[in-house]
Amino acid sequence: MENVIILGSGPAGLTAALYAARANLNPLVITGQDLGGQIATTTDVENFPGFPEGLTGPQLTELMQKQAERFGARLEFDSIVSVDLKQLPFRLKGDNAEYEAKSVIIATGASPRKLGVPGEKELVGRGVSYCATCDGFFFRNKELIVVGGGDSALQEGLFLTKFASKVQIVHRRDSLRAGPVLQERAQKNDKVSFIWNSVITEIQGDGAVKAARMKNVQTGEESIKPADGVFVYVGHIPSTAIFKGQLAMDEEGYLTVDGRLHTSIPGVFAAGESHDRWFRQAVTSAGYGCMAAMEVDKYLASLE
Ligand code: NAP
Repeated sequence: MENVIILGSGPAGLTAALYAARANLNPLVITGQDLGGQIATTTDVENFPGFPEGLTGPQLTELMQKQAERFGARLEFDSIVSVDLKQLPFRLKGDNAEYEAKSVIIATGASPRKLGVPGEKELVGRGVSYCATCDGFFFRNKELIVVGGGDSALQEGLFLTKFASKVQIVHRRDSLRAGPVLQERAQKNDKVSFIWNSVITEIQGDGAVKAARMKNVQTGEESIKPADGVFVYVGHIPSTAIFKGQLAMDEEGYLTVDGRLHTSIPGVFAAGESHDRWFRQAVTSAGYGCMAAMEVDKYLASLE
């Protein structure tokens, strides 16, 4: 039986692993489908302290992994599909194996919210994408639509201008949620233009994206914009479905935690975007990972 199993390998999970390893807890990290989580799909990370020149999401992930492993954290490339947290030991069933643990840190993060419009699901991987780092390369000299008005939409939209000939950002309001630095960069970039007060109602294409139908939410006017790709950045949904019915969570699925990251079950802790709907930064998630690991150490001592 493991002392502590950490679910997720983003900044929260890998920082929890580092702290738990340094507390001699010999932690096991179950990475989830994608090592690094959301940060691994981020192009440039310019606001993680200690890296004045910035670095890429995959680079940050690799450095965090190395640092945790240096102190004995173990990584298992598996995804948990169901859990039984009713009694000790906690039981976790993965795609590849079953696990037992005295404590669990849930650092499963969040996944991109979908638009939920006709054509989106059918055209994923054929022009519809949620990851510019992964797919931007395929759109050299193409025309793209980016949906959203937050930091992700602008940051990834700007990244896409390295490849695309044109990036049109479609936002449902007439002012952006994104911070001023990114707003200024986007406004100065000749390849970027904005379509305000508009939502996508359909993504069209036969085998590959050809156009997006959109509606102006103020006038009700509909239009069709030709595009070779649609990148969607309309927020996130916490990845907590497997805990439903066992752990307290709000109506959107964010886990309920106290000020020390204890969930509704003693011995189960949460760190990062599985509970945090407000800050959602790599550095805050890393901080939560540290806090959760320190609480696990105290909890395990109390069991003895
Ligand atoms: P976000 O801040 O939640 O922004 C989501 C955007 O999508 C908002 O503009 C929202 O519109 C729009 N939206 C939501 N649902 C929609 C729908 N159904 N249809 C159309 N538009 C919809 O998400 P994010 O940009 O991914 O950022 C998440 C967190 O990561 C934030 O805390 C952000 O600061 C952080 N982040 C930081 C950086 C950076 O500092 N460089 C980079 C990336 C992310 P409204 O504005 O009208 O609500």
